[in-house]
Amino acid sequence: MTPDETSAAGAQDEQAEKPVFDPDQLALIPETDRRWSWVEVDLSAIRHNVGVARSLIKPSTRLLAVVKSDAYGHGAVRVAKTALQSGANYLAVATVDEGIKLREGMVGAPIVLLSEPPATAAPLLLAYKIMPSIYTPEFAIAYAEKADEYGIRAPFHLAVNTGMNRIGVRYDNVVDFMRKVSFHRALDLVGTFTHFATADCEGTLDFGIQVKRFTEAISALREVGIDPGIVHCANSAATVRYPQVHFDMVRWGVSLYGLHTCQETRSMINLKPAMSVHARITDTRTLPMSEGVSYGLNYRSPGSVKICTVPVGYADGLNRGLSGRTDFIVDGTRVRQVGNICMDQCMFEVDLRTYGTRRRLDPQIGDEVVIVGRQGDSVVTLDDMANKLGTIHYELACAFGMRLPKVYV
Ligand SMILES: *Cc1c(COP(=O)(O)O)cnc(C)c1O
Repeated sequence: MTPDETSAAGAQDEQAEKPVFDPDQLALIPETDRRWSWVEVDLSAIRHNVGVARSLIKPSTRLLAVVKSDAYGHGAVRVAKTALQSGANYLAVATVDEGIKLREGMVGAPIVLLSEPPATAAPLLLAYKIMPSIYTPEFAIAYAEKADEYGIRAPFHLAVNTGMNRIGVRYDNVVDFMRKVSFHRALDLVGTFTHFATADCEGTLDFGIQVKRFTEAISALREVGIDPGIVHCANSAATVRYPQVHFDMVRWGVSLYGLHTCQETRSMINLKPAMSVHARITDTRTLPMSEGVSYGLNYRSPGSVKICTVPVGYADGLNRGLSGRTDFIVDGTRVRQVGNICMDQCMFEVDLRTYGTRRRLDPQIGDEVVIVGRQGDSVVTLDDMANKLGTIHYELACAFGMRLPKVYV
């Protein structure tokens, strides 16, 4: 533009009505009308799975809902509230900020942080009533002194290392540890716990060793007059498979979300998966034989196929390692994902030929696609995907929860 033209445009701007976008009106456009992909979380499944845990434990046993990593990708505040309303009494998170998010979401139940944060985070723990796990004297003292400064108690759970060797005071050292720190009057031992490395595995030898070490540690505390508080060790797998280790509380994690920890539990309990992943088709094309699709053009059209695009990519949790190896569901029928999965989009193939009695699919822009979940008689599970990738469904659930909006039903 010449200077003349610029000033003319400026003058025009002043004359023209400035468009007014009402932020409240804009906010009314739902996330699923902004981008055609979403995670659906079935809260009745969460309720059901809490009920399953409740049916496995004694009424007097506490039920802790593990809602770390945004409730395994399902949305921590909604899941926590639902779980607490349907029989859970306690919550666990992995980070200080996850605990704060729950408090800001008006969640009032006891929250335990499953590790020790930096001592500099102690004021946050106290302000938001998040109980840390403790296993170093330095942290214990720093946390207690901070509590003293505010004239309040410093509640915590003692983490015992019985063999997983991740965190915790070694099982044969718990009495020494408590003697070392318990001079500090603010410290309150609310619970004592350990974590199993093999509760979901076939053999029971290593599991048995951990149980033995844990019960020894608990007895040792009691013998010297230290009340271990709430004794807990069972994760989902142990809750289902080993009733003898329920103690005072169980920590219901992945099975809260309807996922099994091993083949064996499938015949023992009936869980309902809470997460499904959905999208709508954003573009379609019929592709001449031998034309390629997506980065690298690794997939080549065999002819007579329609290539459809959905706005879901690896940044949404659809792991790129699944490229060409997972199925989607359209109109109750499995279709093949093809071509490399991109960051924000990917493509799938629909065979346009008719043979036998097979119904011809002809999907259109706007049609719904199931990426994880059930439609008609077809099912794609997180387990299927995890097996193909050589990982576990936990990781995939977390990943799908990171960018996709959540729709609660
Ligand atoms: C994550 C976690 C759990 C939950 O385990 P699931 O296998 O998901 O039931 C329980 N306890 C601790 C300490 C954890 O870190």
